[in-house]
Amino acid sequence: MRTAYKERIAGRLTLVTSLIILVVFGVIYLVANLTVVNSIDRELGLEIDKHKDEIFLVNGKIQFLHKDEWQEMEHSQIQLNPIFIEIVDLEGHSMDRSPNLRSNHLSFSPEKSAKKEAWTLRIGANEVRQMQIPLFNAGEHEGYLLLAKSFEDSRELLNNLRTVLLLLYPGVLLSLFLAMRYLAGKSIQPIRQIISKTNQITQSNLNERVPLAEPNDEIGQLTRSINELLERLEASLNREKQFTSDASHELRTPLSVLRGTLEVLVRKPRTSEEYQEKIQTALSSIDRMSATIDQLLALAREEKGKFSTKEELELITFLEEISDQMAKEQRRKITFRCESGVPVFVKANEKSLEMIMTNLIQNAVKYSSPESEILVKTGLKSGLPYIEICDDGSGIAPEHLERIFDPFFREQAAVDRLIPGTGLGLAIVKKLAQESGIRISVSSEKGQGSTFRMDFPHS
Ligand code: ADP
Repeated sequence: MRTAYKERIAGRLTLVTSLIILVVFGVIYLVANLTVVNSIDRELGLEIDKHKDEIFLVNGKIQFLHKDEWQEMEHSQIQLNPIFIEIVDLEGHSMDRSPNLRSNHLSFSPEKSAKKEAWTLRIGANEVRQMQIPLFNAGEHEGYLLLAKSFEDSRELLNNLRTVLLLLYPGVLLSLFLAMRYLAGKSIQPIRQIISKTNQITQSNLNERVPLAEPNDEIGQLTRSINELLERLEASLNREKQFTSDASHELRTPLSVLRGTLEVLVRKPRTSEEYQEKIQTALSSIDRMSATIDQLLALAREEKGKFSTKEELELITFLEEISDQMAKEQRRKITFRCESGVPVFVKANEKSLEMIMTNLIQNAVKYSSPESEILVKTGLKSGLPYIEICDDGSGIAPEHLERIFDPFFREQAAVDRLIPGTGLGLAIVKKLAQESGIRISVSSEKGQGSTFRMDFPHS
């Protein structure tokens, strides 16, 4: 069964409060009980003090100081708060008692007389508090004076108090639960608004945001987090859309060239030189498409974590080999320089690092003049390995430095100078570097050259 959040909050708070109220009500009842009993006991004490000097047992006979007072109404009738008196000998045999006791006797407990302590008992239909003191004559212990006071009124008061508290308890709990449920409902109202707004947001209106009601509380923070998440989602979706449209565009251009070339060819018979030339154009369009598809696949493959296994790699040997190999392939002067006196070890995936290096060296070759030299450097900075690939080629405009790692981004100058490329190389480099935890940065000046730098993490 699903319980609404506000009911759960109200339920838990009510449970805790119910325990606290139970304790409070219990304490109220106990304090009232204690106060009432103490007050009766005090009165009993006073009463017993009043009578103890007026009664003497002389040779087993009772003698009163003021017998007339003993005949008073208060000891003869059952009044509102009657006082019951009985005099007993040492064995507890009744010698005399107040008429209001009728045929009843008070209880005889000699052990309680020394401490002058009171206790509750029933006499007939009456509940009373009784006290008892020894009676002496000329230093001789001759009997006991038993004195009791009705507890009926106090009992009634205590019973009423208990009934009121017991009736109040469920009422208080119910009103507490309802009040807390209402307040909890009010407090989660902003969350309901967030839920309803986020439910309305789909791919088609991802630009909408949840309105911020209270900027500084937790709900404000939640709203901000949801809005930031939406922002990231929107940006990622836009990037994806851009990527798809760029990829289609990149493939459509060589396809159109291919189609145009073939259409021209079939229009009428051509000389074999013309066929050769047009087929050559068609082939380079196909090459361009293949290169784009290969790089798209490289991006996709990397996403599946193909290069995730890492092994220990010594950079000096690795870079020397790759520089030599690339120098031969590209027919360019590529110099390798080691700035560390000791071997430089990194934990990386060799294939991945090879792909990064190939892309960066290829770019350095493409975007610099054929006579210029390319420098590959490695070393340790604060104990951490780095690699730099420096060229003194065309350089990159400062406003493009951030964007060169975006898929399909190419500087207009590269397009205008008909330098072959798809704009995917650095996107692949960035993804591979991220996968290996390598930080990649670039410093460049237009017309002066560029340096791509890789900083390796602690291995
Ligand atoms: P591509 O080289 O296929 O165009 P990249 O992703 O490798 O794609 O590079 C993106 C863009 O960054 C290039 O088009 C170019 O404008 C610029 N770029 C990359 N490397 C260099 C470099 N070494 N010198 C100058 N510009 C560069």
